[in-house]
Amino acid sequence: MANQDDKLKLVISHAKEYGFVFPSSEIYDGLSATYDYGQLGAELKQNIRNYWWTAMTRMHQNIVGIDAAIFMHPTTWKASGHVDAFNDPLIDNKDSKKRYRADVLLEDYMAKSQAKISREIDKAKARFGDAFDEEKFRATNPNVLRAQEKINAVQAKMKAALEASDLEALKYLIDECEIADPETGSRNWTEVRQFNLMFKTEMGAVSGEAGIIYLRPETAQGIFVNFLNVQKSGRMKIPFGIAQVGKAFRNEIIARQFIFRMREFEQMEMQFFVKPGTEMEWYNYWKDTRIKWHKALGLGEENYKFHDHIKLAHYANAACDIEFNFPMGFKELEGIHSRTDFDLSSHEKFSGKKLRYFDPESNESYVPFVIETSIGLDRMFLAVLAASYKEEKLDDGSERTVLAIPAALAPVKVAVLPLVKKDGLPEKAKEIVDMLKLDFNLQYDDKDAIGRRYRRQDAIGTPFCVTIDNETLNDNCVTIRERDSMKQERVEIAKLPEIIRGKVGMQGLF
Ligand code: ATP
Repeated sequence: MANQDDKLKLVISHAKEYGFVFPSSEIYDGLSATYDYGQLGAELKQNIRNYWWTAMTRMHQNIVGIDAAIFMHPTTWKASGHVDAFNDPLIDNKDSKKRYRADVLLEDYMAKSQAKISREIDKAKARFGDAFDEEKFRATNPNVLRAQEKINAVQAKMKAALEASDLEALKYLIDECEIADPETGSRNWTEVRQFNLMFKTEMGAVSGEAGIIYLRPETAQGIFVNFLNVQKSGRMKIPFGIAQVGKAFRNEIIARQFIFRMREFEQMEMQFFVKPGTEMEWYNYWKDTRIKWHKALGLGEENYKFHDHIKLAHYANAACDIEFNFPMGFKELEGIHSRTDFDLSSHEKFSGKKLRYFDPESNESYVPFVIETSIGLDRMFLAVLAASYKEEKLDDGSERTVLAIPAALAPVKVAVLPLVKKDGLPEKAKEIVDMLKLDFNLQYDDKDAIGRRYRRQDAIGTPFCVTIDNETLNDNCVTIRERDSMKQERVEIAKLPEIIRGKVGMQGLF
């Protein structure tokens, strides 16, 4: 299979060719970092959303789901800290007029030095063969030592500058490293500025500052402001959770890598409210529960790892990411955060309303602590698509491209294929379509040779193909072909619903 960069390209073009993901407004040359989900993408996305929703709400009696508005009172974002602190350091190139994130320019610079080190090591490995001692080489080779020292120094200075929000120091570091615009080579930079990632718009007929509202940059705040509404109306007892799926918007300075980083994306978030002092126990519970949810899909256990945050946000007392092995390497897929009582307390302060829980057992009233699980639906989509994409060489020497999407998530569950377009086979096939269509998303296809039809279904990840032949009219049996093993079996038509449900239902995942 292709290298990592090529793999991402293959996945992107496959996604477009088969109707999973299109560049947004493509007839106008697209809109940067914005994508549309096509006919199969919308189904796959819906199935991932359902898997998450079912796992979080139905499988937990003490978690309920809501659907809050995208627009929220602007003070929400003061209280959450987004107005003052949801910033990235931005720098413009005066010649190319291109805009970059200052920290990303520095990270790319360090990655280049790291690549240089890897090249030196590869060269030495080839020269010394089995006798090569990488640890010793790293500790003694002057080129490697020099490059590593440079990386360490830049890393330390960048960290200090970011922590102190010292924008001048960041600019100085970019100049000192002689970093040039990656596209044009120009070193004619502006100063570094803080750039707020929230999109602003105006509400109603009020113009000016008073009418400004934001497109939510996360769904979580819709949960916090509804904490009491849900707790009281649902008579929820702590510990309990509120889940939500919805769009979020961030004016990312560099949005790239396909649907991994977009300006409009969808989040699946759950806030779990607990008694103060019990949060670490619940933090570990959710780490464990969430990683199991991922691994149940069978995309490969080796593709996940936890990454603990070293520098915690000021309000968090523990935080980690679940990273996934994307075509671009291991990157954040989901965050799990212990957020203390920061959000509810802050909303109490800004709204003047009490956001407390009265504990009937201990007769005390307190602001609950919160454990949050937050996953990007689009990133999950990319994880599923990339891990499922396979180019296989078959025993007969031919090749096929198959999406081995977990059956419960597959956009189309079954294809109904009359072997020929005559002799009453299409009519029989349509009877089967009518029998199955309410329970399963299916496709009917009677064009081209059967082999080509199988390939088309493999390419979109359909777990089952059902073929109707002349014999079917006599014995009421069909051939069912399974996508991954390509095994074919003759079964009674009446047994189809049970066979298909057994594989494509969500039961297998829980
Ligand atoms: P990153 O460090 O990659 O910018 P983050 O730490 O800012 O992500 P969170 O604020 O924790 O992300 O958001 C929770 C989840 O939302 C992330 O784990 C990710 O899956 C998703 N997400 C965040 N930003 C984007 C984006 N621009 N496009 C797509 N998904 C996103």
